[in-house]
Amino acid sequence: MFDDLTDLYQQVILDHSKSPRNFHKLENANRTAQGHNPLCGDHYTIYAVMDGDVIKDIGFQGAGCAISKASASILTDTLKGKTKTEVKALFDKVHDMVTTGKVNDGEIGKLAVFAGVHKFPARVKCAILPWHAVVAAVEGRQEPVTTEKEDT
Ligand code: ZN
Repeated sequence: MFDDLTDLYQQVILDHSKSPRNFHKLENANRTAQGHNPLCGDHYTIYAVMDGDVIKDIGFQGAGCAISKASASILTDTLKGKTKTEVKALFDKVHDMVTTGKVNDGEIGKLAVFAGVHKFPARVKCAILPWHAVVAAVEGRQEPVTTEKEDT
């Protein structure tokens, strides 16, 4: 199913899904959010330690397909030290990228490995699910996020 992804991107995604970074609960988290993608069965909890508007630490737990797990792993690696505003701006860029396949912004960095996901519409929700959850977490929203309620 990954035939159209470049080998490099595929390797990065497989590496992160096999050895996810920040894959642990943070006991001192002051923000948590759950995300669920019923179409694929992906479900994750994001834990964040926020100091004002800044993410000091972030981790996640849960299970799902390779794309959702790699997305959560790279997301947590990318978002440490970012502000709430920066998180939302990156969400918009990632959302744009996984739905159009266009990488317009150098800031996207290693998140660019998900650009190929747009060729697999059913997988877009997998890639974006952890992003919905992290936005809910930084906004302090309590109710679980499901990709059924979000317009992708
Ligand atoms: Zn999935």
